[in-house]
Amino acid sequence: MNFETSGSYAEGLDSCDALAAYRNSFLLPKNGQGGELVYLCGNSLGLQPKEALAAVKLEFDDWAKLGVEAHFKGSNPWFHYHKFLNEDAAKLVGGLPHEVVVMNQLTVNLHLLMASFYRPSAERYKIIMEGGAFPSDMYMVQSQVEFHGFDYDDAVLEVFPREGEYTLRHEDILKVIEENGEETALVFFSGVQYYTGQAFDIQAITKAAHEVGAIAGWDLAHAAGNLLLELHEWNVDFAAWCSYKYLNSGPGNVGGVFIHERHGSNPDTKRFAGWWGHKEDERFLMQRGYLPEPGAAGWQLSNAPVFGMAVHKVSLGIFSRAGMSKLDEKTRQLNAYLRFMLAFARSENKSLDFEIITPVNQGGSQLSLLSGSDGKALFDHLEKEGIICDWREPNVIRMAPVALYNTYQDVWKTGMAFLNFKNRH
Ligand SMILES: *Cc1c(COP(=O)(O)O)cnc(C)c1O
Repeated sequence: MNFETSGSYAEGLDSCDALAAYRNSFLLPKNGQGGELVYLCGNSLGLQPKEALAAVKLEFDDWAKLGVEAHFKGSNPWFHYHKFLNEDAAKLVGGLPHEVVVMNQLTVNLHLLMASFYRPSAERYKIIMEGGAFPSDMYMVQSQVEFHGFDYDDAVLEVFPREGEYTLRHEDILKVIEENGEETALVFFSGVQYYTGQAFDIQAITKAAHEVGAIAGWDLAHAAGNLLLELHEWNVDFAAWCSYKYLNSGPGNVGGVFIHERHGSNPDTKRFAGWWGHKEDERFLMQRGYLPEPGAAGWQLSNAPVFGMAVHKVSLGIFSRAGMSKLDEKTRQLNAYLRFMLAFARSENKSLDFEIITPVNQGGSQLSLLSGSDGKALFDHLEKEGIICDWREPNVIRMAPVALYNTYQDVWKTGMAFLNFKNRH
């Protein structure tokens, strides 16, 4: 697509955007004077759906009116609450409904999944992951290998970009898997790298892991609600994600889990158990002897945190109505248009010094800009211009125009803010 640099062109794109109305489903942050901001931080904390508060209030009202009886007699009986999110959550990641459950939070879920799927032996104990992974994932992996009595430096193989490059080459990832195949227990990557915005080829990496007899697990924190996912088709063994980034469900809210049915319907798959994962029709018999619910539901420990899940339910409903494939199309358009506007700004404004390190044409909202010496000044300038993005040490600016609530005019304004930047030299 050939974009143009005028503001009226951006207006035109917005007026033809079939998803434009979804912006009105969200509360958009304002500046101190009540003026509009350009919010490009949906990759970090998604915005609040307008329906969220009423959905939470409904559960509070049921609690007030019914007390414990709301478990079965509430508007959304709490006993069944996790099931109300299943269809939409499964659709979002391309799983079957019984392969997905919403529970706990991301890092907790990763540990629970490692209990099931990282079962190292003396010969096969290594974990292959991306270098520079999100800290929680690094700590999770380190504590897991040490828990099993292995040494971090020996047991964890981190794949780094080549000298002078910022993102990984898939051929390099596949080579590490192939070369270490016999010793590898688990290949564990993020779907989208939080720092560089690189989207990994989940299908190809999963296949390579399986070819050497390893398990493939995925952290989809930056992928769920951002990329088209087909976890079932791609044969992913397990995955987990959070709901507060692209999924707009509020700070620290519940996470989601995918467990492929070949593991989930096998009652012998080892797991850490709790009463909410016990067979539903016998859950309240309170008997000795754990019998898991089939599917991912059999990994639940505790009864559902309904207030948070009420928000997540609203948000999943929005994704379901908009449809991931339509959202994916707009995401790609916004991303390409932002690249175009930044290239334009840089060609016009010689004081700009940055490089986009996120690979092109891979899908996903995020662009990561590796900035030169004036990076912090550029970031501060953007903030003054009302462009809300984030700064990640040591020198990256992350921006993510998201399909549900960002506009083409947001992208245009961002381009203009870059154009206006003056460096100090
Ligand atoms: C955001 C993020 C987390 C955060 O973990 P929580 O348990 O939700 O606090 C973990 N891993 C990755 C890759 C993330 O992007």
